[in-house]
Amino acid sequence: MKKYFKKITGELKEIIILAAEVSREANMPAYLVGGFLRDLILGVKNFDIDIAVEGSGIIFAQRLAKKLKSELRVHERFGTATLILDGLLKVDIATTRKEKYPCCACLPVVSCGLLEDDLMRRDFTINAMAVSIVRGDEQKLIDPFGGRDDLSAGRIRILHDLSFKDDPTRILRAIRFEQRFNFKIEPKTLFLLEDAVKNGLLDKVSPHRIRDELVLMLKEHDPLKQVKRLNNLCALSFISKKLKAGKSTYDLFKSIDKEILWFTKNFPAHRQLDTWLIYFTALLAPLAPGEIKKTTSRLGLRKGEEKRIISYCQSSRRLIQFLSKKGVLPSRIFFMLEPLSYETIILLKSASQNKYLKRYITDFLEIYNGMRLYVSGNDLHGLGVLPGPRYQKIFAKVLEAKLNGKVRTLQGELGLIRELIKITD
Ligand code: ATP
Repeated sequence: MKKYFKKITGELKEIIILAAEVSREANMPAYLVGGFLRDLILGVKNFDIDIAVEGSGIIFAQRLAKKLKSELRVHERFGTATLILDGLLKVDIATTRKEKYPCCACLPVVSCGLLEDDLMRRDFTINAMAVSIVRGDEQKLIDPFGGRDDLSAGRIRILHDLSFKDDPTRILRAIRFEQRFNFKIEPKTLFLLEDAVKNGLLDKVSPHRIRDELVLMLKEHDPLKQVKRLNNLCALSFISKKLKAGKSTYDLFKSIDKEILWFTKNFPAHRQLDTWLIYFTALLAPLAPGEIKKTTSRLGLRKGEEKRIISYCQSSRRLIQFLSKKGVLPSRIFFMLEPLSYETIILLKSASQNKYLKRYITDFLEIYNGMRLYVSGNDLHGLGVLPGPRYQKIFAKVLEAKLNGKVRTLQGELGLIRELIKITD
């Protein structure tokens, strides 16, 4: 393992050295585990350090937080803690534990355990390896299930035959890792996965856990690949009874890929898009409105997320029809698109190949959306208008004229305001 440790540099290295110090001082063996170790062996960057501690993960985390002067979030019930560091780095620390599943898809009964128990409760061989963080021990990879061989061969393999039955979310995790790394789910695991799907085990999982796994899938770098494999292996009825995906959804995903790239390249200053939400909306869009609402509330999406999905599904047809015509006035484009989220706008641009619509949306993002008036409330006051709802109406009229190129200067804006005041007085 020495050569892998050499690959850890900078802040990551400092954290691991300090964690090794805590391990020695507190006399609590501690190990790098999970995705961090997997990615270290694969040579993939990962800024989420997973540490498993024999003893108390929480005491260990408190001591490490002190050394690092970092914020600490403790989850007493699970014996875990997260250190939040500046930038991208995160350290998850957990007490090694044993898990028993009292029934299919139930939450496990957790008790203290040793490292071997902790590795045994994990999802796949490639995620069930450990290495001590203490110098001297670090060469030894603890790999009871052959994870390293599976990593080299590109195999996703569960640890025992009841794995999917214990926790069917592993079905979705298997697909996610398989597609992320271009691996293959090995034959017996695939057989058990398909059997679990046939027996409807995904329907037994709580909708919130399904949501979390779906969001992770749609955050992967190629959501289309993920959804295709998901659809082939599981179909999509576990998300919503009538949900199906075919060529039109896949084509839309490809178009979304392009539009997201275009947006991030051209508008780097805008807030980051919730890209997963764009794909998820595209997935749900063919459903009837009532079904969409039912699905989003069952999955427990946040209000803001639900609102963006429903807003697209309710208005996309009308908007696409309207924006596909030649010669739509800039002010009409502005007032139609301005209330929408960027996610909705990007999805509209992806859903239509009409050249006018694409142009209008580009103009909206490049020009209209950033347009500001020269006049202010003070100017209106100076012209004798008393503050009140009338201000907004006047500003909207001036903006409309400005968007349509009818006024261009401060003088022009003031002139128009004088006319408007005369008309309404
Ligand atoms: P990613 O690279 O997507 O962050 P990860 O492997 O780090 O993946 P996490 O969800 O952060 O995944 O979980 C950390 C570790 O916890 C995993 O590597 C795995 O060993 C274990 N784990 C997570 N979810 C499960 C599960 N449902 N069943 C068993 N073990 C799990």
